[in-house]
Amino acid sequence: MTLPLIDILTNEYGKDPFLILIACLLSLRAKDTTTVHVCRALFAVATTPQVLCAMDRARLEKIVFKTGFYKNKARILQEVSQALLDRFEGRVPDTFEELISIKGVGLKTANLVLGLAFDKPAICVDTHVHRISNRLGLIATKTVEQTEQTLQKKLPQRYWTVWNKLLVMWGQNICVPLSPKCSQCAIKSECKRVGVTRSR
Ligand code: SF4
Repeated sequence: MTLPLIDILTNEYGKDPFLILIACLLSLRAKDTTTVHVCRALFAVATTPQVLCAMDRARLEKIVFKTGFYKNKARILQEVSQALLDRFEGRVPDTFEELISIKGVGLKTANLVLGLAFDKPAICVDTHVHRISNRLGLIATKTVEQTEQTLQKKLPQRYWTVWNKLLVMWGQNICVPLSPKCSQCAIKSECKRVGVTRSR
C-alpha cells in the first residue's frame, strides 16, 4: 500500500480508520491499481466491521480474489473485524501497541493507519523506503524493522508520514530497484548512492 493509493481512497471515502485499515490489509503483496478496484467493490457492500464479519466467506473471497492470497485475506479481514468488535467496541484503536496486538495487523499496516487515519507521526517503511533511505546514505540497515527504528531517530517527526509518499513515488519512477535512473535524479548531488553498482 502506498500513500498515493490511500489518497485516492480517502478522497472517495473520507478518512475512515476502518476503511484505511482494510485497504492496507488488502494491499499486501498486491498492486495499487488492483487494490483500488477491489476496495471499491468491497466498500460498495461493506464499510463496517459488523457488516464485514457477517458476510458470507465465499462471497468475500470472490470480491478480494484479484488481490491474491484471497483465502487468507478474506479470513484476516473477518478476524480483524471480529477483534475490533470484541476488544475495541468496533473502533480502530489509535495506538501502535493496540494496533499490532490485533492478529493480522503488522508493523507497516499499524504505522500507515496511525499516520493516515489519526494524523499521528508514524513512518511507514516499505521496500522503497528501505532501499532509498539506504542508498541515500541516510541510514545503514539490513531490515525493514531496523530502518523504521533508525529513521525514527534520524528524521524529524514532521517528515515521518510524508517520507513514505515521497520515497514510494521516487522508487517507482527514478530510484527503481534495478539500475536506478541516477542521470535523471534531482537529488543526485545529495545522494551517496550506497550499494548502487549499475545505474542509468
Ligand atoms: S542518485 Fe541514484 S541512487 Fe541516489 S536517489 Fe537518485 S536515483 Fe537513487
